[in-house]
Amino acid sequence: AKAAGRNTYQMFTREMHTAARQRLAMENNLRSAITNDEFVLHYQPQVDAATGKVVGFEALVRWLSPEAGLVSPERFISIAEETGLILEIGRHVFEMACEQAAKWKKAGVPFEKISVNLSARQLQQPDLPEMLATIMARYEVEPGMIELEVTESMTMERPVESIRILGVLKSMGIDLAIDDFGTGYSSLSYLKLFPVDKLKIDRSFVKDIEIDPDDAAIASATIAMSHSLGKKVVAEGVETAAQLEFLVKHGCDIIQGYLFSKPLSADDAVEYLNTL
Ligand code: C2E
Ligand code: CA
Ligand code: CA
Ligand code: CA
Repeated sequence: AKAAGRNTYQMFTREMHTAARQRLAMENNLRSAITNDEFVLHYQPQVDAATGKVVGFEALVRWLSPEAGLVSPERFISIAEETGLILEIGRHVFEMACEQAAKWKKAGVPFEKISVNLSARQLQQPDLPEMLATIMARYEVEPGMIELEVTESMTMERPVESIRILGVLKSMGIDLAIDDFGTGYSSLSYLKLFPVDKLKIDRSFVKDIEIDPDDAAIASATIAMSHSLGKKVVAEGVETAAQLEFLVKHGCDIIQGYLFSKPLSADDAVEYLNTL
C-alpha cells in the first residue's frame, strides 16, 4: 500500500511537472507569436433576426503557428490572461480589427460594426480608453463602427469600477455588449447600472433551447428583461433552424452561430456578404 501511495504521488508530481512545463512552453511560444506577428482575426457574421441582414461581425482571434497551424483561443487566452501577455495580444487584436474596419469601409463593404472581445485584464487598465482612442484615430475608425464585448463574470469582479470604465467607453461612442450572459451571476440591480447596449445569451442556454424548459425559460426571460431595460439581445451558438425559430418567436434581435456561418477569414467574410 505504501509503494502504491508513493507511485501515485510520483505520478501526480510528474503530471504537475508536465503541466507546468507545457504552460511555460506555451508562454514562451506566445511571446514569440507576438514578436513574429502570428495572430489573425476571423470574423463571424451577426444577423438581424427580423431582416436576415448581416449587421456586424465578431472578431475572434486565432494563432497561426508555423508548427501547430491554426490554434484556437481556447488553448491560449487563459494563459495569456495569467501571464499578462493578453494586454499586448488584446491591443494587437484591437488594432487588426480597426485596420479591417477601415479597409472595409473604404471598399464599401456593407457592415455596421465589428465586435471585439476584451479580457478582464484589459478592462482593469486605467489607460484602456486612451489606448483604444489612439488606435481608432490612427486608422480613422469612427467609434460607432466598433463594439466591445465584456463577459458578465469579468464585470462582476469589480462591478463599481466596471460600471465607471464602461461609462467612459460608452461616452466615447463605442457600443458595448455583455458576453456569456447568464453564466456570471450578475444581479439585476447591477445590470440596470451597466451602460451597455446589448446582452449576449450564452451558447450553453441556446444549445438545448427547444428541449430543456429551464434553458427556454432563461432565454425568453433574458430577452424580455433586456428589452424592458432598453437593451438588444444577441443569441450566440445558434446551430439549428429550431433554435432560430424559438429565438425569433421570443423577440431575440440578433443571431450568431454556425447556422449562418462559422467565423471566416476577412476575405471569406466579404465573399459571404456577396453571396447572400
Ligand atoms: P466567445 O466570445 O463566447 O465567442 C464565441 C465562441 O463560440 C467562438 O469560439 C465561436 O467560434 C464559437 N461559436 C460561434 N458560433 C458557434 C456555434 O454555432 N456552435 C459552436 N459550437 N460554437 C460557436 P472561439 O473563436 O474558439 O473563441 C473562444 C473564446 O475565446 C471566445 O468565446 C472568447 O472568450 C475568447 N476569445 C476569442 N477571441 C478573443 C480575443 O480577441 N480577445 C479575448 N480576450 N478573448 C477572445
Ligand atoms: Ca464574445
Ligand atoms: Ca460565449
Ligand atoms: Ca466565452
